[in-house]
Amino acid sequence: DMSLPAPTVRTTCPYCGVGCGVTATVKPGTIPIIAGDARHAASGGRLCVKGAALGETLDLDGRLLYPHIREEGAMRRAGWDEALERVAGGFARIIEEYGPDAVALYVSGQLLTEDYYVANKFMKGYVGSANIDTNSRLCMSSSVAGHKRAFGEDLVPGCYEDFELADLVVLVGSNTAWCHPTLFQRILKAKEARPGLRIVAIDPRRTATCELADLHLPIKPGTDVWLFNGLLTYLARHGHADAAFVQAQTEGLEGALATADTDCSDPVQVARICRVDPGKLLAFYEAFAASDKVVSAYSQGVNQSSSGTDKVNAIINCHLLTGRIGRPGMGPFSLTGQPNAMGGREVGGLANMLAAHMDLDNPAQRELVRSFWDAPRIADKPGLKAVDLFRAVEEGKVKAVWIMATNPLVSLPDAEKVRRALDKCELVVVSDIVAATDTNDYADVLLPALGWGEKDGTVTNSERRISRQRAFLPAPGEARADWRALCEVARRMGFTGFGYEDAHAIFDEHARLSGWRNDAHNRRVFDISGLAGMHRKDYDALEPVQWPVAPGSSEGTQRLFADCRFAHANGKARFIATAPRAPVHAVDEDFPLALNTGRLRDQWHTMTRTGKSPRLANHAPEPTIDLHPHDALLCGVREGELARVTSRWGAMVARVAHGGGIARGSVFVPIHWSGQTASDARVGALVNPVVDPVSGEPEFKHTPVRVEPF
Ligand code: SF4
Repeated sequence: DMSLPAPTVRTTCPYCGVGCGVTATVKPGTIPIIAGDARHAASGGRLCVKGAALGETLDLDGRLLYPHIREEGAMRRAGWDEALERVAGGFARIIEEYGPDAVALYVSGQLLTEDYYVANKFMKGYVGSANIDTNSRLCMSSSVAGHKRAFGEDLVPGCYEDFELADLVVLVGSNTAWCHPTLFQRILKAKEARPGLRIVAIDPRRTATCELADLHLPIKPGTDVWLFNGLLTYLARHGHADAAFVQAQTEGLEGALATADTDCSDPVQVARICRVDPGKLLAFYEAFAASDKVVSAYSQGVNQSSSGTDKVNAIINCHLLTGRIGRPGMGPFSLTGQPNAMGGREVGGLANMLAAHMDLDNPAQRELVRSFWDAPRIADKPGLKAVDLFRAVEEGKVKAVWIMATNPLVSLPDAEKVRRALDKCELVVVSDIVAATDTNDYADVLLPALGWGEKDGTVTNSERRISRQRAFLPAPGEARADWRALCEVARRMGFTGFGYEDAHAIFDEHARLSGWRNDAHNRRVFDISGLAGMHRKDYDALEPVQWPVAPGSSEGTQRLFADCRFAHANGKARFIATAPRAPVHAVDEDFPLALNTGRLRDQWHTMTRTGKSPRLANHAPEPTIDLHPHDALLCGVREGELARVTSRWGAMVARVAHGGGIARGSVFVPIHWSGQTASDARVGALVNPVVDPVSGEPEFKHTPVRVEPF
C-alpha cells in the first residue's frame, strides 16, 4: 500500500508531546533533508535540536529487518507466516488453557493511533481481557486520572497559544526548556514582546528552565501538594475565589478546602515543609492571585510520583477556585512526554480505559463498544497496569506478553525484576525497529516494525491536536506496520473485524466509534466523528486539527469548557480533597539521598534513534551521577570519577558531575543509557517499584539511594 512518496512530505516529529510539524525532502543518494513545517499550527516551523537532527538518524544500521523466532534456545530468521503462526498459536493455546487474562500487550506512546486502536480492539473486544497497558503509564497516567476526577473525562482544557496569552506561566516539575523546547521558545518569544509575562518554575533542580524563569522555587522533592494546597487556602482567604463560577460550575470545594486547611493554611509552615524561602513562596502566591491569565503546566515531576494524581488535582483545584479555565491565556495544562501519549488515551490504550474515552466499569458503554465492534466479548474489568503487569508475569499469572515499541527492561522501575519476569515468561513477542535491545534478548518471537518516516497514520499532541505522520521512505527489509502484524495474528486466531486495508480505514472506524451513540444519555466530549467518512485522499491531506471535531464539521476546538460544561453527569467540575503525603520510601541512614531521574536535552528514550547523531551525542557523551558538591564530599566521590549509586533494588556506575543545579540531598541520573550503550547505566534497575494508588504511575522521582566511590 506504499504509494510512491512525493519529494517533500509533511509529517510530525516523533519525539516529544509538542508534536512539531516537519517536512522531509528525499533526494536519492543523500540523507533526507528535514526542516520545520511553517504551516503546522502546533509549531509554526520551529524545530529543536532533536527534531532538526532527524535526518541523521534514519540509516538502517542496527535495524531489525526480518522476523526471528527462538529455536532450541537460539534466535533464527523466520518468515512472517511462521512467526505469526507462533504468536497466534501461542496466544490461542494460553488463552484456552488459562483464560484471557493470562495474555497481555504492553505497548507504547511511539505507536500511531491506528496501531493503538487495533491493539486495544484485539485485546478488549476479542481476547476479552483489558491486559493492555502502555509505557504512557510511566509518563502521564496521573494526569489522565486527575483529569477524569476533576472534569469527568481525560480532557486538556487549553492550547499552546494560551502560554503566549498568559500573564503568568507556572511550570511545575517540567524542564520545558529541554523536554518541550519549541513550546518553551514560544513562551520566551511572547515574554520578549510583552515583558510583563512572568515565568515561575517549581522544580527541585535548578534546570535550564529555572535559569530563564523570573522566579524559581526549588522545592523539596515530593512536596508539591503542600505547595498547591497552600495556594488554594491563600486564594480563598484573600478573596480570590470566583464565587459565581464555583457556585454554578463546580462541587466539592468545602472538602478540598478543609483538607488543605489542615496542614497548609500557614504559608510560613508550607515554606518550611517545601524547604523554600517563605518570601519567594509568598511572591508566587501573590503573583498567582494577581494574574487572571495563568497557565499552570506540569510534566513528569508532577506525574511520576506516588501522589501524582493528587498533585495534578491540587493544581487543578486552584484553577477551579479562581474560575481560570476554558478562556484564552489560562488553565491547567498537562505536557505529555511522548509524541502520541494522547492518541493512545483516545483509543483506550491504557488498561483502565475502554475506547473513545468510554469507561470499562460502565456496563452501558461496554455494551456500546462491543456492539460497535461486533465483538464476541468485551473485557469487563480493568486490566493490569504496567508495573503490576510485569509483576504478574513474574508470578506466572501472565504467560504470554507482546511488547511493542518499548524497552521495559530499561524503562520500568525495578528493571531487574522485569528481567526475571521475561526470563520466566512462556511466550515473549517483541515488535521493534531495533535488532539489539535489552528486552529483545528475552524474545521468543521478534517482529520487525516500521519506524518514523516509514509508517503512516496519526498522532495527537499535548494540545489535543491530531496530526498525520506520513511515510517518505520505503519499508526496509520485511518490516511491517504494527497494526498489520496485529491484524494478521487476529485473523489467525479466528477473529473477524480486522480486515483493514490501510491506516485510513482504521482511523475512519475510530472516528465513527467516537461519535457513535454520543447522545445526551452517553455524552462524551471526545468526539472526532466530524472526521469520519473522509476519502483516503482527504485523510492523506489531513491538516492538523484539535479535537473534538463535531459531527458534520471538520473544524476543531481550540479550547474546552468555554461553555463551562464539564463531562461529569451533572456538568460540574469537581474539586478533589488532596491530603498531602510524603513519597512512599523516605531517605534514611543507609540510603540518605533521593534519586531523581529524567531526560537530557539532546537524547530521546534509550537513544535507539538520537544515539545515531554525533552532534546530539556531543551534548552528553556518557551518563552522569549529578549531585551537590557537599554531598559528593560526604560520599567520598569526586567530580569526573566513577561512582556507584545503590538503592534497595539495584545499582549502577557512572561518572560524578556537578552540572545540573542539584540541591543538597538529591541525585539526578538520566534515563537514556541501557545495556546496549557503551556504558551500561540502566537507572531503571534502581528505581523503587512504588506507584500512585489511583493512576498506577511509578515514583521515578524519589528513590532513596547512596553514592560510593567505584
Ligand atoms: Fe520534536 Fe519536541 Fe523538538 Fe518539536 S520540540 S522538534 S516535537 S522533540
